[in-house]
Amino acid sequence: AEPFPVPPRTRVFTVANQKGGVGKTTTAVNLAAALAQAGARVLVIDLDPQGNASTALGVEHRSETPSVYDVIINDVPMAEVVQASPDFETLDCIPATIHLAGAEIELVSMVAREQRLRSALEAYIEQAGERAPHYVFIDCPPSLGLLTINAFVAAREVLIPIQCEYYALEGLSQLLNNIKLIERHLNPELAVSTILLTMYDSRTNLAHQVVHEVREHFPDEVLDTVIPRSVRISEAPSYGQSVISYDLNSPGSLSYREAAAEIARRGARKQEDN
Ligand code: ADP
Ligand code: MG
Repeated sequence: AEPFPVPPRTRVFTVANQKGGVGKTTTAVNLAAALAQAGARVLVIDLDPQGNASTALGVEHRSETPSVYDVIINDVPMAEVVQASPDFETLDCIPATIHLAGAEIELVSMVAREQRLRSALEAYIEQAGERAPHYVFIDCPPSLGLLTINAFVAAREVLIPIQCEYYALEGLSQLLNNIKLIERHLNPELAVSTILLTMYDSRTNLAHQVVHEVREHFPDEVLDTVIPRSVRISEAPSYGQSVISYDLNSPGSLSYREAAAEIARRGARKQEDN
């Protein structure tokens, strides 16, 4: 396969949607794996106490495991908690453990509570120098609390997965308003760069309608590639794998690889524009 263009500086994505079960984790993990498979250096930061991204990437996240909690709450450098994902040489993960569930409360009284992840990530990228990741994906919990705010402050790009279901656009204006508030007050560089339609079932009219409606609202942000509903995608995490390593040429894997290629190309195009 044609190698993807590599960005000149680290692109940091927050994968967000305050709804649960819309494909945030699946998208973060599989785009990361697809980019790593194409040769990019990729870091996934698991910011959901459930630790689903850590599970899907096959990295340890028992409660004693050093994790993103220690980074955010105890100032432990990311380099001390990062783990290699076993399936791709250039794919790393900052795991989440159950301790992260308490961080939302602990953060409230901390100094610069919205900037903790950003500071840690900037230090990590700077220290890595030439070896810095090309892409970082932050997998958010299904809420708009301080953990998600930390992710928005640490990133420049927001990637919103939208499930091709009846209530797809419900709650989206609230999410976009929150992103605007963050942009105004905490992170002027933040923008929704990418929307990915997921769990598409081509047999239903409803799915067609949702795709049409979302494209109409967000003509520039929605990727051409749509992720189909696929059993291979949903069973890969139980083997501690992305669908890219689990079944490289399955339709689900091919769609995430194509979406990753689009993201890489779009980024490159934007660079040329500037
Ligand atoms: P979120 O992180 O937004 O809560 P997940 O990525 O965990 O959502 O996805 C919710 C559920 O849907 C999981 O069981 C996941 O395996 C499944 N899933 C996600 N994307 C697909 C897909 N394209 N096809 C089939 N199942 C999917
Ligand atoms: Mg999730």
